[in-house]
Amino acid sequence: MIISLVRLPVDGLRFKHQYQAGELDTGNFEFELQEPPLVTGRVDRAGMDMRLRGNIKALLVAPCDRCLNQVPLNFEIPVDLFYTPEDTGESRTGEIELNSRDLDFAMYENDEINLDEMVLEQLELNLPSRVLCREDCRGLCTQCGADLNVEQCDC
Ligand SMILES: [Zn+2]
Ligand SMILES: [Zn+2]
Repeated sequence: MIISLVRLPVDGLRFKHQYQAGELDTGNFEFELQEPPLVTGRVDRAGMDMRLRGNIKALLVAPCDRCLNQVPLNFEIPVDLFYTPEDTGESRTGEIELNSRDLDFAMYENDEINLDEMVLEQLELNLPSRVLCREDCRGLCTQCGADLNVEQCDC
C-alpha cells in the first residue's frame, strides 16, 4: 500500500490496512507470513519531514536455527519513524545518511510513503537474532540429517 502525502490533512492522516495473503512479497526474507499484517497508524508533518507512528501486528514463521522446523513468531511492533524527502540539500543529505540507521530515519520520494517496504523492514528488524523452536532444541544430526528432537539416529 502506498500512502499519498499530497493532500495531508493539517491534523495528520490516519490509516489502517489489513494485508491479504500474497500481498507482500517475502521472497527475499528469512520469514514467511502465517497471518498477513494488520497495520494501523497515522502520518503527521514534522517540519520538513513526515512522522509515521503506528503499530504492526503479524504472525510470522521462521525456521529454527538448529532443526529448521518452522517456528511461529507473534509480532506486535510499535513504529515511530521519520521520513525525510529524498531530494534535500546535499549537506543535509550526507548527515542524514550517516545517522539514518540510528535515528529511525527513512526516505520518501514523490510525496508518497511505501507502507509495504516499511512493514517488511520492520518485521525483518524485529526478528530475533536467533530463532529456536525451544531453548533446548537438539537440532539435526550433521551426518544423516535426522531431527534429533524426534528420533535417535545410528550415526
Ligand atoms: Zn529446533
Ligand atoms: Zn545421524
